[in-house]
Order: sequence, then structure tokens, then C-alpha cells
Amino acid sequence: MSDVKNQTTTEAQILESRSEVFDLMYETIESDSETLAQVKDLMRNVRVEVKDIQPMKETMEKTRIELGSLKRQLKTLEEKLLFNIVCPACGKLLRADFKLCPYCGENITLQEKMIAVTDYKK
Ligand SMILES: [Zn+2]
Repeated sequence: MSDVKNQTTTEAQILESRSEVFDLMYETIESDSETLAQVKDLMRNVRVEVKDIQPMKETMEKTRIELGSLKRQLKTLEEKLLFNIVCPACGKLLRADFKLCPYCGENITLQEKMIAVTDYKK
């Protein structure tokens, strides 16, 4: 009789500890699925951000190319503005503030400069 009672107690203890393990497992699974949901959310956000970034990257690349072209145009314009007179002796492009041609040493007078600038404006 005593043996039967002992056995029942042991079985009850095993059952109880089992249910504790199940509870723990359930909690773990629940928190895991919560984490999984968070990861899923994160992944979705990342995907949306990547979609947003892609056209941004393309726009930036386009802007970079346009900026390069603009820089080149600006340089050409700057050169045209700075090197806007022609040496009357050798025909090289010179800056308007040059008094001597650095190529042939020709003395460039104000009169020649004015003619050169007028010609350039045409
Ligand atoms: Zn010259």
C-alpha cells in the first residue's frame, strides 16, 4: 500500500516537472516567435529602405555626372573669360591681364586687347 502511494507521488512529481518544462518551452517558443516577428518587421523595413535607396543612388549618380559636366563647362567658360585675347603676333590665346605674350614675348597694348575682346564678343 505504501509502495503504491510512493509511486503515485513520484508520478505526480514527474508530471509536474514535465508541465514546468512544457511551460518553459512554450515561453521560449512564444518569445522566439516574437523575436521572429521583430526580425520579419526589420527585414521588411530594410527591404523598403533598400527600395528607397536604389533610386536615390541612381539620382546621386546622375547628379554626379551632371556636376562633372557642369564643372567642365564652367572651366571652359572660365578659360574663355580669362583667355579672351589673342596675341597679335603668334595667335595664341592669352589672358586679358597679360602685358606680354608668354609664348612669343610680344608686347600687347591696351588697344589690341580692346579689339580682341570686341572680336571675342562677336
Ligand atoms: Zn604671342
